[in-house]
Amino acid sequence: MRKPIIAGNWKMHKTIKEAVEFVNEVKDKINNTDVEAVICAPFTMLTELKKATEGTNIKLAAQNMHFEENGAFTGEVSPLMLKEIGIDYVVIGHSERRQYFNETDETVNKKTLKAIEHNIMPIVCVGETLEERETDKTKDVVKVQVEEAFKSVSSEDAKKVVIAYEPVWAIGTGKTASSKDANDVIGYIREVIKNIYSEDVSEEVRIQYGGSVKPSNVEEIMNEDDIDGALVGGASLNPADYVELVNF
Ligand code: 13P
Repeated sequence: MRKPIIAGNWKMHKTIKEAVEFVNEVKDKINNTDVEAVICAPFTMLTELKKATEGTNIKLAAQNMHFEENGAFTGEVSPLMLKEIGIDYVVIGHSERRQYFNETDETVNKKTLKAIEHNIMPIVCVGETLEERETDKTKDVVKVQVEEAFKSVSSEDAKKVVIAYEPVWAIGTGKTASSKDANDVIGYIREVIKNIYSEDVSEEVRIQYGGSVKPSNVEEIMNEDDIDGALVGGASLNPADYVELVNF
């Protein structure tokens, strides 16, 4: 049985003060303990958020990390640094990082392997652009992204990875893939995992949908068989909406 995972990706929003206030506001309202609640926050506030979420059901994720443990990589943050402050998850290969910061399938794979090595669970993002969808390439694109991300990942480790299917055209646009379309692609991603590993692994891997998820559509999305969670941008910034999303 796959435990649903609802993650709020704050992207480049909030100050430390706002982040801590957010947690204090939502922490006693999250009563759906059958769901894993995650906040993906900017680096600067992770330490304070760790303290604020102590004893709550909320887990923390970084939004990126480097694939080396240390070295001359100005501006980067390593898995050791995230581990030191007790971070549970790390988002890897978000489409905004692929689009604006030269993230490639190769760096996604390196980061995935490194995160696993340090026991930080990767949330690996995949998804097609509008042009790719319109030219019927969605499945080819996500297949390659998934195969590349999981290169050299053992089957035991693969089970722990979370995949987020986020069609690029649905991010921040108000356009959602229909829950049926999202489920169809996510079911296909499960097939890809099955072909790389086994049925057993494909039945354990959790796959989220992301792209304009909000309180009003989360339930319909979560009702789909193959969809195990949501990665939510805009709507996760508002405490009341975050509570509704997690308690869907
Ligand atoms: P929105 O929910 O704002 O569309 O963002 C989705 C996303 O990119 C989450 O990682």
